Amino acid sequence: YTGKTGSQLLTEKIKKLQVYQYQSMPVVVDESVSVYDAICTMFLEDVGTLFVVDKNSSLVGVLSRKDLLRASLGNSNLEAIPVNIIMTRMPNITFCHKDDLIIDVAEKIIEKQIDAVPVVKHTEHGYEVIGRLTKTNMTKVLVDIAKDEII
Ligand code: ADP
Repeated sequence: YTGKTGSQLLTEKIKKLQVYQYQSMPVVVDESVSVYDAICTMFLEDVGTLFVVDKNSSLVGVLSRKDLLRASLGNSNLEAIPVNIIMTRMPNITFCHKDDLIIDVAEKIIEKQIDAVPVVKHTEHGYEVIGRLTKTNMTKVLVDIAKDEII
């Protein structure tokens, strides 16, 4: 018997949760696609954040809904603007690894005021995007805690 309260045991479990347990599939676009195509992809794939990759499939940028809205204001030819001129680019991207602690990523999401973080894996060329962790995934953590379904 450890003498720990139920609340202490739960806190320990929450602090041990890792990204791979809650991550979802990433949606990526090539850096050469247009703002128009990125908007279509965002609707078709039903995500709020797109990750931008180069020809080696390495992460080079992030596109949020507001990045695309901003680029659309006063621009009549969205097919002529490549996403790589409006995206947030490396090295300013906040990313994580699949075995990182969810609580650490949650703190980064709050600190940087962003909606999603790419889950990456190191390759010879850079970082390959293997998943995404979003505020919705964090909401699932909260629901699992309430349902006492944390493993
Ligand atoms: P929105 O801009 O639609 O409110 P976000 O809050 O996620 O969505 O994005 C805010 C800004 O931060 C955008 O300019 C976006 O490109 C950038 N951004 C989003 N996610 C990341 C990330 N993981 N790393 C760095 N910048 C990001």
